Amino acid sequence: MKVLKFGGTSVGSSKNINNVINILVDYSKTDSIACVVSAVGGITDKLLLAGKQAQNKDDAFLETFNAIKNRHFDIIKELNPENNKAILEFVENKLESLKSLLEGIFLINELSPKTSDKLVSFGELLSSFIIAETMKNRSFSADVKNSQDIIVTNSNFTKAEVDYTVTNTNIREYFKSANQKITILPGFISKSKLGEITTLGRGGSDFTAAIIAAALHVDQLEIWTDVSGMFTTNPKLVKQAYPIDKISYQEAMELSHFGAKVLYPPTVQPVLSLEIPIHIKNTLEPDAIGTIISNKETKSNSPVKGISNISNIALLTLEGTGMVGIPGFSKRLFETLSQEKINVIMITQASSEHSICLGIENKEAETAKTAIDTAFENEIALGKIEPIIIETGLSIIALVGDKMKNHQGISGKMFSTLGKNNINIRAIAQGASEKNITAVINEKDVKKALNTLHEQFFESKTKQINVFITGVGNVGERLVEQIKQQKKYLKDNLKIKLRVVGLSNSRHMIFNEDGIDLKSWKDQLAQGEKATLQGFFENTKSLNLRNSIFVDVTANKNVADLYAQYLKESIGIVACNKIACSSEYNNYKELKELSLKYNAPFLFETNVGAGLPVIDTLSNLIASGDKVNSIQAVLSGSLNFVFNNFNDKTKFYDVVKQAGAEGYTEPDPRIDLSGVDVARKILILARESGVKMNLEDIENTSFLSEAGLKSDTVDDFYETLIADEAHYQSLYASAKANNCQLKYVAKFDNGKASVSLQEIPEGHPFYNLEGSDNIVMFYTERYAKQPMIIKGAGAGAEVTASGLFADIIRLGND
Ligand code: ADP
Ligand code: ASP
Ligand code: MG
Repeated sequence: MKVLKFGGTSVGSSKNINNVINILVDYSKTDSIACVVSAVGGITDKLLLAGKQAQNKDDAFLETFNAIKNRHFDIIKELNPENNKAILEFVENKLESLKSLLEGIFLINELSPKTSDKLVSFGELLSSFIIAETMKNRSFSADVKNSQDIIVTNSNFTKAEVDYTVTNTNIREYFKSANQKITILPGFISKSKLGEITTLGRGGSDFTAAIIAAALHVDQLEIWTDVSGMFTTNPKLVKQAYPIDKISYQEAMELSHFGAKVLYPPTVQPVLSLEIPIHIKNTLEPDAIGTIISNKETKSNSPVKGISNISNIALLTLEGTGMVGIPGFSKRLFETLSQEKINVIMITQASSEHSICLGIENKEAETAKTAIDTAFENEIALGKIEPIIIETGLSIIALVGDKMKNHQGISGKMFSTLGKNNINIRAIAQGASEKNITAVINEKDVKKALNTLHEQFFESKTKQINVFITGVGNVGERLVEQIKQQKKYLKDNLKIKLRVVGLSNSRHMIFNEDGIDLKSWKDQLAQGEKATLQGFFENTKSLNLRNSIFVDVTANKNVADLYAQYLKESIGIVACNKIACSSEYNNYKELKELSLKYNAPFLFETNVGAGLPVIDTLSNLIASGDKVNSIQAVLSGSLNFVFNNFNDKTKFYDVVKQAGAEGYTEPDPRIDLSGVDVARKILILARESGVKMNLEDIENTSFLSEAGLKSDTVDDFYETLIADEAHYQSLYASAKANNCQLKYVAKFDNGKASVSLQEIPEGHPFYNLEGSDNIVMFYTERYAKQPMIIKGAGAGAEVTASGLFADIIRLGND
């Protein structure tokens, strides 16, 4: 004899029922079968909805009823195109009783637990009947047996307790004389000793099958569902979850207790002592191996077997200095809850016994509060304890594994992983057997928590990084292209899964939680929603993905002003925008502090020297204990380009224009030519060296003509370049006469910084600087005589994009 159970999805359509029938027929070639079925998928919920509507005097119950009716009729006709009259007639009759019941509820305005059980029992009664009759129609040796005739319970409606002595005898008696090869039984439903209809609790069909398997001492219980086994975590919330091939009864019980819906928690009970293994299989993929739940030793080395979650949790906190002295306090507390039939999912108690926290279902929170406040009325009045505090909107997440107790540091790893991702933990508990560690967190963080924990404990080799890019002009576009090209390399070689989740230019923005398909990002962006900076932030925040990074590829102050908001959500910042780091010192400082506080990186390597590793090198020097004495640098690719191309045969105006055309200057060339851009860069280097400094503190000797300095618009400025050609030629002539090259030099020395155009003599490291190259010389305590020199292309879209890219990857290597 074999016992199989098929869940709601497995019997949710004619196609799936045909799959079920094939499996049953195949199995019945070698054995007789007891097959427990759920209601057609979603029907139990619909029945309860119709009941609620009727109770609320809402006519819509009739629509819900019709939907239930049509769903069954469609399935019957699809399964039995001919010869369906008898089945339809029977079902029609049943549905008439259902309708009368709903009308009754409507009339009296009341839906008691007892009536609710009667109502939902129609789901399983119909599905089991339809499947058995369809099989009979197809001439298989099959029949239906109503579980209500054999499973006997107490009258604890909606979650009745089984009387095993009577039930086991009934089951054995029935199967002793059953003649058909295949018996179809409705799951979930039962009857009390008084003959009232009861149910075994939501999801209870699994339990029905386990009761039958245990009564008949079969070799194995098979639970057929819509996923290929018990997964490492909820596969609906974590894409990377995968089926566990073998798991112990205890682990399966813990996982299901903490929310792994694939198995109804009490299911293990009846089969455990008889050591009947439970095999979880997928009706939609019958060849997948599935999960075996048994006592057999599993080979897995991983101490953590799975992670599960329960939503809609309320946390009750009972606090008070007087608690210590109250005799039998816990006993009274739990008795009170038990009288109200409230299920306590987790408990934590501070060792000082000053407070106790209970995790229960949201819907029971008010009842629990009233009951407990009443039970401890006197103590509350005397001020020994506080009235109970309820917090809702919470979830429980649990790490489960038999071997966790033998491993140190698992809870540390769990909590630091959550902490790093800014997931606030409201309460923590660890079962005495150390088979689970549970945490209560905000509902909104569940997906992120499960994904990060899963990554930590099951995919330790890969790290997902979620990137949100604002500004896809020249540099931004190169960055997206570089990411597209390197994706596979990063995954294969660095185990980094880099995904661009948000993209925006000044007009449009797009988001895709699974990662934007970079093959067509431009087309998608062109059709994206209207972009706003705040909207981009809100979307990024509400996606709440782990390892999120906001990449600022603009030169916009309004974007820089939002960094603090991002950091406060633990979203890292990678920016080539210099405005934030060169803004008021206090703002720069605050961003740095937020980055530390919220564990969100704030990286801006490209602020100085584009892709050259200037800031990273400087931070490494400082971090390793070195001290910067002075910095000398040529930091403007644009000014270098200008002075490398300007001579007595060219015109200053033409050279500046050309620099603009080739993308070496900012759209407003005054930012470069006035020295402001270089001043910002040396300011950032000074600050990163540990000096408190502002832009005004930097001495800026401009080489521009007076008219150039005063010009109001870009056009006016260009006019002055033409008019003042002689001024610029004189700068060149002087340098030439002194056998020097003109370079725009930034200096930081002894706490002071300056920027100015200088005549550089031959032999100086700056003399031969070509094109748009940058050079930085760090004189430090360790590099006192020979400076550390960093030199190379310091401008251009490709190198700037690669600098941004390097900052992003730095997070992956954390
Ligand atoms: P059935 O109707 O077959 O009884 P259920 O809906 O009760 O199926 O249970 C299967 C569902 O459980 C899956 O579709 C999945 O969404 C959910 N689930 C939650 N946690 C897990 C887990 N750890 N492993 C597998 N499934 C899980
Ligand atoms: N149909 C019931 C429910 O939806 C029982 C089950 O499917 O296991 O809860
Ligand atoms: Mg189920």
